[in-house]
Amino acid sequence: MFARLLLPRILPSHKLSSCPQGLPASLVRSSAYVGGSWLRSSDSASFPVLDPATGAELLQVDDCGPRECREALKAAAAAFQTWREVPAKERSALLRKWYELMIQNKEDLAKIITAENGKPMKEAVGEIVYAANFLEWFSEEARRIYGDVLSVPMKDRRALVLKQPVGVVTIITPWNFPSAMITRKVGAALAAGCTVIVKPAEDTPLSALALAELAHQAGIPAGVYNVVPCSREKAPAVGKALCTDPLVAKISFTGSTATGKILLRYAADSVKRVSMELGGHAPFIVFDSANVDQAVAGALASKFRNSGQTCVCTNKFLVQEGIHDIFVQKLSELIKKELHVGNGFEEGVTQGPLINEKAVQKVEQHVGDAVSQGARIETGGKRHDLGKNFYEPTLLSNVTTNMLCIQEETFGPLAPVIKFNTEEEAVAIANSANVGLAGYFYSQDPAQIWRVAERLEVGMVGVNEGLISAVECPFGGVKQSGLGREGSKYGIDEYLDIKYVCFGGL
Ligand code: NAP
Repeated sequence: MFARLLLPRILPSHKLSSCPQGLPASLVRSSAYVGGSWLRSSDSASFPVLDPATGAELLQVDDCGPRECREALKAAAAAFQTWREVPAKERSALLRKWYELMIQNKEDLAKIITAENGKPMKEAVGEIVYAANFLEWFSEEARRIYGDVLSVPMKDRRALVLKQPVGVVTIITPWNFPSAMITRKVGAALAAGCTVIVKPAEDTPLSALALAELAHQAGIPAGVYNVVPCSREKAPAVGKALCTDPLVAKISFTGSTATGKILLRYAADSVKRVSMELGGHAPFIVFDSANVDQAVAGALASKFRNSGQTCVCTNKFLVQEGIHDIFVQKLSELIKKELHVGNGFEEGVTQGPLINEKAVQKVEQHVGDAVSQGARIETGGKRHDLGKNFYEPTLLSNVTTNMLCIQEETFGPLAPVIKFNTEEEAVAIANSANVGLAGYFYSQDPAQIWRVAERLEVGMVGVNEGLISAVECPFGGVKQSGLGREGSKYGIDEYLDIKYVCFGGL
């Protein structure tokens, strides 16, 4: 019955009059999506979305501000009153439909990612499938939100635990996974009965808006999924509007630790719930007992996916003395053989551009600092001839803990290697960071595997494995890498409140 009441308005088509060449006009949108309608920014302001490979402008997207945020908040709050009552089975069916549409449109959605983010098409298709899988997973979890019946010492009472949706959720996401960072949160939130407002990154709003088009086609009711794109200039004002409003019950953020701290302060003022998926500094330890070929293959996958721009990318390699030289030699050979830099739309390219020139400058700064302090360039070490946003996949040896690349997250295609002697030394270096998202190590010694897996101060550990993300597994960090978990059976709890109900006089 509720589903019938919630049928979305039939909207006029909002196809662009001209779509950038090669991009699917059926999915490319340039306005905010609020209350089931495409909403223009009130002051007609817009910002450009750029192709990081060429620097060319793809199109102008509406630059929203606090006024559009308020509209989105009102729409989400109104929709929450009905969406929360929709039977879980119906919410599940709508999420499933959305998932199916993503899979049907995966090539087109991937083109949008490659155009605005730069990652190679093969990786972009992989991201779309990963992103869609979160909708599928949470469509299944929606039907498995269980309460409890508790036994209490009083004979005339019974105690129940109910799980209820927290309410309206503000979702702020980064550019490095323009689709998956949204569905990982939105799938769980909608399954729980929450409604959302998404603020995507300035660099990658088109993926969030394409998801809105498909949500609409799937029949997700008006106001349940809203998107408010904005420029980097307006992000602080939009962030404040979306994170301080009394209508918002929860803030779910993925991005840098620095921005996370700003949003946590907003949350503190009105005691909102939070999920924070923040920065990392993943160690990758190779012990003498490791299978060196496995370790080298894992290193390549863990370091260079998305040109090194993932939060779980290895940031520092720690390699034991006995295996060090052969590991460095083989990794250097594999980088030269397997990694091909270029435009993500070209066949065979494995390394696209970095997101912008600022990102390239940071890699340059880290390499320059390391080399000036004695690091040796094994391969790469400079900008790529292809253009200002391209950097060569780089391997540095003779790296020490005082170098910038070991102190800060590089977020680029730089693999620095530190040589170590003992397990204690490696674990101490790995744990010296104030963040703890992912960590990896290679060893064939079972006792060492248990010891190190337990001692690493991170939320996720890859043992003899460099790629560990899966929708079934809990994603999240410890220390300043954040609060809460996404995906898995635990992810939905982030969007549920526990209510205790005491039945007396029985
Ligand atoms: P960022 O600068 O923190 O941006 C992330 C998002 O926050 C963007 O939408 C950004 O908008 C927005 N934002 C920035 N300042 C804001 C403010 N004052 N108020 C509200 N919103 C604001 O992070 P990034 O550099 O784009 O992303 C890379 C970082 O994300 C890395 O540290 C990486 O490790 C982390 N990350 C973590 C995970 C995880 O699951 N733990 C996953 C992916 C990435 P604009 O784009 O308009 O600036």
